[in-house]
Amino acid sequence: MMMLDPICDMVIDMGEARDNGLTLEMPEREYAFCGPGCQVKFAKSPAQYRQKFEDWLAGKYQPKAMM
Ligand SMILES: [Zn+2]
Repeated sequence: MMMLDPICDMVIDMGEARDNGLTLEMPEREYAFCGPGCQVKFAKSPAQYRQKFEDWLAGKYQPKAMM
């Protein structure tokens, strides 16, 4: 399952992020991150990035740094 890292816009594999401990369980869903820096940043202010993630899921947001 591919997930958007809502901090840096990188699209990453959820399974890989889980293996590396780079996920964060929130009431609405589990988020995945490219690295601990993004993980920490999101944990500090999740509300700031939630909408972007919802837009991405809905196909309304195209990540700039998509690889
Ligand atoms: Zn990142």
